[in-house]
Amino acid sequence: MRPEEAWQSVLGELEVSMGRSSFLTWLHAARMLTYEDGHFIIAVANGYAKQWLEQRKLSEIKRLLSARMGRSVEVTLTVMTSNSTASSQSPTTPPLIAASQAQPAPAATASLSSDGLLPRYTFDAFVVGPGNQVAYAAARSVADHPGQSYNPLFLYGGSGLGKTHLLHAIGNFVKQRGLVCRYVNSETFSNELIAAIRTQSQEAFRSKYRLVDVLLLDDVQFIAGKEFIQEELFHTFNTLYSANKQIVLTSDRAPRMMVTLEERLRSRFEWGLMADISPPDLETRMAILQHKAAQMGRELPMEVVEFVARQIQSNVRELEGALTRLLATADITGRPITVQLARDALSDLTGRRVNITPSQVIETVAAYYNISVAEMVSPSRNKELVQPRQVAMYLLRQETDASLPEIGALLGGRDHTTVLHGVERIRMRLEVEEQLRRDIMHIRERLYLNTQPS
Ligand code: ADP
Ligand code: MG
Repeated sequence: MRPEEAWQSVLGELEVSMGRSSFLTWLHAARMLTYEDGHFIIAVANGYAKQWLEQRKLSEIKRLLSARMGRSVEVTLTVMTSNSTASSQSPTTPPLIAASQAQPAPAATASLSSDGLLPRYTFDAFVVGPGNQVAYAAARSVADHPGQSYNPLFLYGGSGLGKTHLLHAIGNFVKQRGLVCRYVNSETFSNELIAAIRTQSQEAFRSKYRLVDVLLLDDVQFIAGKEFIQEELFHTFNTLYSANKQIVLTSDRAPRMMVTLEERLRSRFEWGLMADISPPDLETRMAILQHKAAQMGRELPMEVVEFVARQIQSNVRELEGALTRLLATADITGRPITVQLARDALSDLTGRRVNITPSQVIETVAAYYNISVAEMVSPSRNKELVQPRQVAMYLLRQETDASLPEIGALLGGRDHTTVLHGVERIRMRLEVEEQLRRDIMHIRERLYLNTQPS
């Protein structure tokens, strides 16, 4: 691989392994500056990002880059110089973040000086198919006529289907035309609001989100149940809306399915256009794979494209992960890219799943947390039992074909809405909690180790 390709591919992998919000917080602005003789120099947004990444991620970055370059490499992180960012309003003292060094996610102010946009998510890089064409067309229309066509635009659908990509694409498009745009994940929005209240800087917070032409608010399901955040968002919404400024929101479900959302916000979310995204069909998956491969300057035989697209069905993020893994395997082993190579490279993504039974999941999770299966399925809502139980719900959902009611029955006759809540809860926490992510990774490893592919 060329150095820039290697770097892009490592970014892709980190985005998956770190989780979205952590990735956006620490790596959204990262750029490769130079590569010379085994030495990468990478610029990151600011000193906190540099420090955080050096402490936690540098060796992983080195390892991933070395694998792709086929040699061991050195990596130096440096802080981006002021002329490469819009830094007029950047804070000069390290606020708040020092207090929460151990927490990966909420960089309350680290993104103050940036609009949060990822340049590589553009309309051009988005492959359109039957499952996303309405959402795509709506996003284009909003980018063409912000504040005038659909306001708000509400995009919803399952994980990894391109909602965040479309948000950034709108942002990148309007930004080129000189409009002020801000992208923020709802969880960051919440964390920043809390920080602003603590430091009595609500005014700065408000102008940050109210003095824009286009506000892009991602994963708005996060604010469900958080009343004062909904209150703030309600006023943000009204200010922007009455000034004919564009608002685009995404969520993993439709507004009417967000049960703890205040009615006045729900009705506002429904004022404009709602468009859902459903999983891509085979042809679209193949087109996406080809597009991504071409972006990396690679070409895949058609039969390999089809093989991979048939294996990975529901999620584009996984599709990308599979492609990255396939190419890395080819590079490391020097083998040509064939269906057999794809089968080997992806065996753990494809072959194992069918062999995992619900009771194996429950037993493995219970053993990992040192509790008994009887406790796992007991009615007790003791804190020590709730987390393992929710993790079991999550993994049963991910690793087996059990339905929500079946999972409820397996776990001591619980209601399917309880299961759904548990699954969602873990999914949200995974976005921000590194420890939980690690726990689940270890549980998965144990599950797979004890389960032979057929
Ligand atoms: P979501 O926000 O819905 O969970 P993302 O927008 O983060 O999903 O998409 C996950 C990954 O898949 C991103 O890297 C994105 O670029 C890619 N992706 C999703 N849909 C498409 C598409 N239709 N064409 C190209 N890439 C896509
Ligand atoms: Mg997203």
